[in-house]
Amino acid sequence: MPSGSRRDGTDGSGRPADGWQGKNNDETDDDEDGTMSENASIQDDQREVTTGAQGPASRDPTSADPTSSGSAARGFRHTGEATISETALHPRRKSRRIMVGPVPVGGGAPISVQSMTNTPTTDINATLQQIAELAAAGCDIVRVAVPSQDDADALPIIAAKSPIPVIADIHFQSKYVFQAIDAGCAGVRVNPGNIRHFDQVGPSICRAAEDAGISLRIGVNAGSLDKDIYAKYGGPTPEALVASALKEAHMFEDVGFHDFKISVKHHDPVTMVQTYRLLASKGDWPLHLGVTEAGPAWQGTIKSCLAFGALLAEGIGDTIRVSLSAPPVEEVKVGCKILEYLGLRQRHFDIISCPSCGRAQVDVIQLANAVTDGLKDITAPIRVAVMGCIVNGPGEAREADLGVASGNGKGQIFIRGKVVRTVPEDQIVPTLLETAREIAGRMEEEGKVPEGASGPVVIPVTETPAEHRRRHPAHGQDAVSAVEAA
Ligand code: SF4
Repeated sequence: MPSGSRRDGTDGSGRPADGWQGKNNDETDDDEDGTMSENASIQDDQREVTTGAQGPASRDPTSADPTSSGSAARGFRHTGEATISETALHPRRKSRRIMVGPVPVGGGAPISVQSMTNTPTTDINATLQQIAELAAAGCDIVRVAVPSQDDADALPIIAAKSPIPVIADIHFQSKYVFQAIDAGCAGVRVNPGNIRHFDQVGPSICRAAEDAGISLRIGVNAGSLDKDIYAKYGGPTPEALVASALKEAHMFEDVGFHDFKISVKHHDPVTMVQTYRLLASKGDWPLHLGVTEAGPAWQGTIKSCLAFGALLAEGIGDTIRVSLSAPPVEEVKVGCKILEYLGLRQRHFDIISCPSCGRAQVDVIQLANAVTDGLKDITAPIRVAVMGCIVNGPGEAREADLGVASGNGKGQIFIRGKVVRTVPEDQIVPTLLETAREIAGRMEEEGKVPEGASGPVVIPVTETPAEHRRRHPAHGQDAVSAVEAA
């Protein structure tokens, strides 16, 4: 921290110490009212974006062992370092690499999955318990909300005990950013649009992050867009969201800070895709993908699959967060499955089941659901086929590790395309489950279960008041009443 500079971004006299405005007047050409001029707009943005990680060499994963970082020393699970994830789809966009604790983001690193706890951060035990569940489901990075001083006070323990790197999510009060950095968080998400006096405190935030060796995320959201940019573009259009992101990115880079990623989230998948495409064309920042406020599990999953699928297929995206009005662990399962089905993460459990038709001689829907639910804790990369008749059954089952084709009140059980047993219809499910567990056990013995493997996605449709009470005992009667009234 340079002398004469305080963490509130002033020099003690109320004037900015060396704030953005002083640095940027010549280059970003902000209007007096704070809006971006045409010269700084995205249409005219010709600014050269520095390539490559610009942080200290100790944070360059190509020149330093990430296990030697402070965050690794705190016992983070090591993820995402083994291979560069590539796919048969469009080659990955070349982004620069940053580190979130020991997890590399960008620069060809495997695409990481993030989620956010929904426990009160002040409830340290509940938050750590939820983080452990998220990590077990395959989450690489977790974010926690810091809306109050009590939440900030909980960060040192949470950051120290979490098995995966913790990012503090800060709105409004910049003092919590500094507290999160001091607490040992692996990163901080800031939304410059609603951090008070961000122009003044921004340089101090960058210096504190650089000193601590952590990265930041600029998180632009349609719902909290800078009001001047909103007015200029007439709403949270792709151009407006990208203009906001560029403005903040250039602020960071003008003070020499480059260890940040960007998100430009929107609730509409089409707008979201257009926004990220536009942003991706403007520079090499690592991008955090998200469809914000995507809705309950069913709708949100579809929106996220559409938007993430479109972008990831084009090679855009370095880390993802699925946002669902559902338990956070379901976000992680959906995120992992999106990556698996795009060939961007090693496949885990998978089920193939036919849609059934007039030829079906068994209730395929019930059978498929029973098998999926019965194997929801399986993490081995086993593929199980459930077919309603023998028309396609044997053929599909040949592609699977295990399968069943039904007919005449019986089920033919296949292992790798060979019939091994024929069982009565009421024995199909128990036989499949038992055999699947035997095969999964052998895979585990052979070391074929990848780290962070998750079971199949089981989307909760409803939550009873009793279930809600069990999940949120601290929320009290108001929350329970709300569920009961819904
Ligand atoms: S496998 Fe048989 S029951 Fe299932 S959809 Fe195909 S033809 Fe219909």
